[in-house]
Amino acid sequence: MLLHKLWLAGVILGASQSALGLKLPHSLLALQNVFSLQQALCPHYSSLSSHELPIDLGQYSGEIVARLDYSNDHQLKKALMGRSIFKFKKWGKNNVLQTMDVQLHPDTLQDMAHQFPNMKYEVIIDDLAQKVYETYPQHWASSKLNPTRMNVFSELFFKEYRPLETINAWLNILQETFPNQIKLETIGYTHENRPLQVVHFSTEADPDHSDKRTVVITGGIHAREWISVSSVLYSIYELLQYYSANPDSSILSRLDFLFIPVFNPDGYEYTWSSDRLWRKNRQETVNPNCLGIDIDHSFDFHWTRSSDWECGEEYSGEKPFEALESKVWDEYLNATNENHNIYGFIDLHSYSQEVLYPYAYSCANQPRDEENLIELAYGISKTIRQESGKNYNVMPACVDKDADLIPDLGAGSSLDFMYHNKAYRAYQLKLRDSGSHGFLLPGKYIEPVGKEIFAGIKYFCIFILGDD
Ligand SMILES: [Zn+2]
Repeated sequence: MLLHKLWLAGVILGASQSALGLKLPHSLLALQNVFSLQQALCPHYSSLSSHELPIDLGQYSGEIVARLDYSNDHQLKKALMGRSIFKFKKWGKNNVLQTMDVQLHPDTLQDMAHQFPNMKYEVIIDDLAQKVYETYPQHWASSKLNPTRMNVFSELFFKEYRPLETINAWLNILQETFPNQIKLETIGYTHENRPLQVVHFSTEADPDHSDKRTVVITGGIHAREWISVSSVLYSIYELLQYYSANPDSSILSRLDFLFIPVFNPDGYEYTWSSDRLWRKNRQETVNPNCLGIDIDHSFDFHWTRSSDWECGEEYSGEKPFEALESKVWDEYLNATNENHNIYGFIDLHSYSQEVLYPYAYSCANQPRDEENLIELAYGISKTIRQESGKNYNVMPACVDKDADLIPDLGAGSSLDFMYHNKAYRAYQLKLRDSGSHGFLLPGKYIEPVGKEIFAGIKYFCIFILGDD
């Protein structure tokens, strides 16, 4: 019965043929081929009229993304991590190779090369506007004209990234199809009055949840990191499949799950309507010219005000929990403390393929039970490598944040807050890639990344069940 429902939901919800292990009807396969062909023939955005484009792409024209090597230049490293006279936006960095990717104008790159003559660099995205364009669904124009078509074609759900409205519709169908396993709960509202939704996944009637440990999986705290949102959704879907194949599995009889696929709904929506590369939420700040607080610098554990200013991408706000989403989450956890024995936490981000363990705020303080924390981190990394061949580096989050160089860079993170106050085991995973796509990972990677992350989550759950 459950398998049949899962198949039905798969067709409705858009699981891929391979994900279900079942054959899609012929007509749907034909549609799939049409869209594959469209993707292959993606036109240049400049050949299209503005109503055919999802957002104004002119805002990125002329900009590039370059990978700068700071391994032999401490001054360059400082200039990249802190406030700088050069105008660039930080993307990801590789902490092993000691490179940072930055979004900038080619003239700025030349100025930097002049200032730091030993700087090695390579351009990894030479046409940023086109690269941005290619991350939106390729049938964007038609789906915008007729939104219901998106639902008709929803068997392709994991083939492309999805806007908030479609994600919420998908979650609602999920709840209707699996009322005994999936429950949606609105835990509060954002500045723009969007609901912050939690997906409860629980398989047995246990109103007190007394004997169960709860695992929390979050994504989308940074708006532009779309692959983190799709990976939470994919994990929910994979968990349903896992349950149908293993109804007596201890993962589901002894664990409850709370998923938050879109921790920053206002920011996510903004990446679909205005700026694909937006990172923060969208609430007002003390500076009337600048919107948005970095939610991941807003949690009340070793919070310090960021050295970044109000318009900066890492702005922390003026006080802890000023970002509404972090406040709502804290209040929800406090109010439901007795219902959830929160034990594990994984926060998904992108990019650079890393498994990060606490603390983020400082490398000077060792986390409790550090050996087991590291062992589990390597276990997750190894599981991912066995699943997909992809290498995820393991390190303390403070190293990734360069908290020792500039202390406020690692302050107020969701990782530290959850680890210190709520979860015994806590990680931040930075997903793919480590190559040339960065935040603009094409939609064709949604499924492979979803699969490798679910494998890592499954390993995490089994490890947790062994804790006593
Ligand atoms: Zn992030």
